[in-house]
Amino acid sequence: MSVKLLYEGKAKKVFATQNPNQVLVEFKDDATAFNGQKRGQIAGKGLINASLSAHLFRLLGQHGIPTHFVDDPKPRHLLVERLSIVPLEVVVRNRVAGSLQKRTGLEDGTILDFPVVEMYYKSDDLGDPLLNDDHIRVLNLAGVELTARLKDEALGVNAVLSPYLEGRGLILVDFKLEFGITDEGVLKLGDEISPDTCRLWDKETGKKLDKDRFRQDLGTVEEAYQEVHDRIVSR
Ligand code: UDP
Repeated sequence: MSVKLLYEGKAKKVFATQNPNQVLVEFKDDATAFNGQKRGQIAGKGLINASLSAHLFRLLGQHGIPTHFVDDPKPRHLLVERLSIVPLEVVVRNRVAGSLQKRTGLEDGTILDFPVVEMYYKSDDLGDPLLNDDHIRVLNLAGVELTARLKDEALGVNAVLSPYLEGRGLILVDFKLEFGITDEGVLKLGDEISPDTCRLWDKETGKKLDKDRFRQDLGTVEEAYQEVHDRIVSR
């Protein structure tokens, strides 16, 4: 049986299934950073990110947060509901890092008084720029109501993930989510939740256990992904 490849991105391949409302996502070991300028491979990443995402999507489902996750039928693959993706990356931040550090000058690691939510335009051509609510409206990317719901849902995800990860010795510094809408018009969380999309620091030592090891050439990248997986899934 030939399986139809619907889409191949930087880190994933998406295949059609017998069910028109579901797709099979294959997680690759390929890694990119800085809008595709840095490229490489992280051995075992596809396996780990699929497994971690399945685990965390199940956890969110148990807390009443709708996600696209259906099943994890085989290693490095997730069966998910087909969504029409809202072209916004929703970032939640608990501490200062990355682009927020550059934008504000606040010291790296500073604990924020409340979780800060940001929206970025999913556009490779423009380099995923930060947008405010008016930009989102004027570009017709989402209405006022949907934008507010995206922020609410993202904060809900943070309220579940932060304490859960803290209990496993991991500080959830910040993370990126993508949402989409099902055929029936239901808003659901899509994409993945992994060290590719979350900044995770060891609670005791502050050691970076995420894609920043790849971005900043810090070494022991594979070991960091494995450590996160072991603490969350295998324990
Ligand atoms: N992030 C992501 N994909 C992107 C950009 C950011 O998953 O295309 C995640 C990143 O891993 C971090 C959070 O979103 O957990 C905030 O990233 P930031 O804006 O600081 O981006 P950076 O400048 O570090 O790429």
